[in-house]
Order: sequence, then C-alpha cells, then structure tokens
Amino acid sequence: MLGGMQDAPLRISNIIDHAAREHGAREIVTRWADGSTTRSNWAGIAGDARKFSQALEKLGMKKGDRIATFAMNHGHHLAAWYGISGMGGVVHTINPRLFEEQLVYIMNHAEDRVLLFDKAFEPIIAGLKDQLKTVEHYILFDGEGDYPTFRELTDAEDGNFDWVEGDEREPCGLCYTSGTTGNPKGVLYEHRSNVIHAITEGQPDAMNLSQSSVMLPIVPMFHANAWGLPFACAVTGSKMVFSAVNDGEVLHNLVLDEGVTHSAGVPTVWLAMFQHMDANTVDYGKLEMVVIGGSAAPRAMIERLMKAGVYVLHAWGMTETSPIGTIGMRPPNWDDLSFDQKVDIICKQGRTPFGIEIRVVDDDGNELPRDGESSGSLHVRGPWVLDQYFQDESGKCVGDDNWFDTGDVAVIHPDGTMQITDRAKDVIKSGGEWISSIELENAAVGCPGVAEAAAVGVYHPKWDERPLLLIVKKDGADLSGEDVVDYLKDKVAKWWLPDEVKFVGELPHTATGKILKRALRDEYKDYRLETA
Ligand code: AMP
Repeated sequence: MLGGMQDAPLRISNIIDHAAREHGAREIVTRWADGSTTRSNWAGIAGDARKFSQALEKLGMKKGDRIATFAMNHGHHLAAWYGISGMGGVVHTINPRLFEEQLVYIMNHAEDRVLLFDKAFEPIIAGLKDQLKTVEHYILFDGEGDYPTFRELTDAEDGNFDWVEGDEREPCGLCYTSGTTGNPKGVLYEHRSNVIHAITEGQPDAMNLSQSSVMLPIVPMFHANAWGLPFACAVTGSKMVFSAVNDGEVLHNLVLDEGVTHSAGVPTVWLAMFQHMDANTVDYGKLEMVVIGGSAAPRAMIERLMKAGVYVLHAWGMTETSPIGTIGMRPPNWDDLSFDQKVDIICKQGRTPFGIEIRVVDDDGNELPRDGESSGSLHVRGPWVLDQYFQDESGKCVGDDNWFDTGDVAVIHPDGTMQITDRAKDVIKSGGEWISSIELENAAVGCPGVAEAAAVGVYHPKWDERPLLLIVKKDGADLSGEDVVDYLKDKVAKWWLPDEVKFVGELPHTATGKILKRALRDEYKDYRLETA
C-alpha cells in the first residue's frame, strides 16, 4: 500500500464541531428587533443546532430536504443553519424583500418542507400561506404566535444527536437570485464549496480573521450565505455580533459596545452608519476592517474609512460565486504608495484568491489580454462557482471548460486586478437589491401614451443606483412623469418605481432594433437625479 491521507469529508458539521470544541466560549451576540440583547457562544450555537437537527428529524425531515428561513440576522438563524445542514438538510434562505409572486414561486420551486420565520414577517407569511404547496411546518424564530417557536422545539430535545454523515459534494444551502427577466434561479451550495470558501475568506489577504476578531455581518443572512461569514468565523473562532435590524444608530452602538473589529455590507449600509455618526459622535471604536461589496464601493466612502485608519476590503462576487470572486488585496509595495494611489487600487474590485480564476472575453469568446484596457465579458470558474441552477431544465450554465459568464463587463490589469467597467445584464442594483430594467420597461410601455421606454440605473449617493425611466411619447400624447409613475404603482414593487421619468425624442437602437442600453448608460453616466 502506498499510504496516504484520511478520508475526512469537508462538511459544515466539521466547522461547527471545531468552533464548539476549540472556541466554545467565544461569544455570539444578538441584538433583536425588540431592542433586547441575548448572548450565546459557539458551544451554545452548536448545542442548539444539534437540538434543532433532532427536532427536524422528529418532524420527518430527511437528507436533501429543503428547509426555508425567512429571517433577519440573529443567533437562532445561525443555529438553524448549522442544525439544518447537520441533519443533511438544505438551508434555503429567502429574501423577504422579494414580491409575493417571486416568494411563492421560489418556495414552491424549492419544495420547501419547513419554513422558519421572524415574528416581524408574520403578516407576509399569512398572505402567502395558501399558495405554498409544499410547506408542512411553520416555525417562529422569535416572539409568540400560532406556531411552535424555535426555542420550544430545541428545549424539547436533549441534544444527543450525531450529525448525519455524507459526501462533501452533497448540498447544504440554497439561495435564489432574481436577475434580468423570468423567474428567480436557485444556486445550490455544497458542503465542500462552503468549507473551502470559509477557509479562504479568513486569510490575511482576504478578511484577516482570527480568534480575536469580532465580526458584525451587516450583509443579511439571506444574501449569498451572508457572504460566507457565519462559516468563516466558526473556522477562525471569531466572536460574532448579529443585528436583526439594519439601522445606523443600532449598528454604530453595537460597533462600540461589542468591540466590533470587522464588519461587512453593501455601500448603502455604511452611509446610514456615517450619517448617524456625523449627527452624534464620529467614533469607529475598535473597527479595523470594513468589507464592502455587492456594488462598487464609492471612492468617497473608501477615502473616509481609510483616513480614519480602517482597512477597506473591496470585494466583488455573486450569489453564483458563494459569493467571493475577487478581493482587494494590498500589493507588496503598499507602504511606498501615496494615499491617492492606495485609494485608486481599492476602488478596483481586486484580485482572485487561490481557487478562483477569471478572464475577460470579447463578443466572439476570444480571451482578451490582461492589459488594463481591453474590456470584455467577465468569466469566472472555481470550486465554489455555480455549474447549474437548481432544478433548471436548461441544464448546465457553463461550457466544458467550466467558465461562467457573470454578466459583468470588466478589464483585468497586468497584476491581475479586476475592474468592473459596465454590466451586460440589464439590471439596476439599488441598495444591494436587483431591479429588472426590462420588467420596468415592459410595464411602462403598457401606459397609454407611451411609445417606447428604457430604464437605466443612474448613480445615487444613498442607493448606489436608482432607475431613471426614459420615455418616447406616442404622437400627440399628453402625458406627465407623474402619470407614468401612477400607472406603474400597482404593477411593480414600490421600491422599483423610477426616481425620475424623462421624456426624450428618440432612443438609440442596435441594428436588430433593440434599445442600445450601453449607449444610454454612457449618456446618463453623470446624470444627477433630483432625489440624489
Ligand atoms: P448578487 O448575486 O446579488 O450578489 O449580485 C452580484 C452582482 O453584483 C455582480 O455580478 C455585480 O454586477 C454586482 N457587484 C457585486 N460586487 C460588486 C463590486 N464590488 N463592484 C461592482 N459590482 C459589484
């Protein structure tokens, strides 16, 4: 026999076992929606997780079953993640901000058998319940009501439970992403992909996590695994601080009171915190690192944080990439650079960690040079990158060589730094959430008097992007911007309504008659919305 290494699959249960055994006393703090605070630790979370696994088995749940969570960030949600995957289940995290039809679609498509939800979302769940075809059990995470609570279920168990074993390629998580048109698509995460992503995330050139770190994930747990932080922090034994509300004052107080050293979120959340600080005390406490992703980190935000001595980690990724794709690593000559040169680097989206590969290609699929000038479709591949959407009849979404087309347009610089320059997918990202420009346009062309419509994302200081709706009127039509917005009110979600409607004589078209979105985005690049 040649000898070799042990057959030990990389599973989520190994992460929580490690955290409980080696970092059991490291705290997990929750600031709940009602203002109360509870404290647990990694050992406590592991104990709750085992009890929750037992409770799920009693409800008849089996390996591979999808168990949905409709919840904000808190310790029960964390324990549920580990409990669900620990009994072989798949944690399906749901974004409560989606519209009713999308919510119903994804829960039915995922065939969720159990739905755990926060008390605050009870009215939404009540409105959906009749349409949910597969949900057999409803569980409240907090508060009291007509359903069993997470705590009642876990209190009824003794925690004497062996994690369900299996292959590291088995699924453990599911997150739907709503993009351009059509129904949302599910991204299925595996034990292995989440474990290696977690190990990568803690590294010094990435989030530099250790057992001394105190992480406040502001990114919601329903966004791409909360960027993997609940796994990465268990690997490193970091303290975690959760807030069930996203409010500048609450978050700032947590930073100060809990000694938060690391935090992560989309640009919009930092603005809310800055606003609160500016009106009160500008104090970053022990904050060492802020991770900004989900949308391009604005230069002014990077400058402000860097001037305050906070390490800004600008990252790019997608639900489909678990989500880390590139991270803003510092080059070896960092200390010799001027402040502005440093900011220039951090404004770009960063470099790939080991495991991820990127390339840019032209319209014919030819790979473009890494010269910092050749801009093309950004492709990505690696062990934590999607291969096929969940139960998607169209099959694999990558070719034989595994490259996944991100829908982003980028250049790659000679040192490997990636810089997003545009977006090929027709979407607007507002406060970290997607608005489909095509659906907005389709709704708008139904408005009497509208001949043609184009929605473009325009820079907004608070939301990163907001929709500007360009309208060509029908000949002789008497129509105001308010008429269009009024018409759209019962057709799209409130937060999708355009900030401004602008009437134009004509829209640019491609040779095949499609609206030339790229030209419009260029034209309105510096457009200042009245709401901005
Ligand atoms: P999601 O799947 O909702 O996380 O969205 C992923 C998309 O968000 C990417 O394909 C990009 O279009 C955008 N995105 C994420 N991070 C960044 C970033 N740092 N800079 C610019 N765009 C980003």
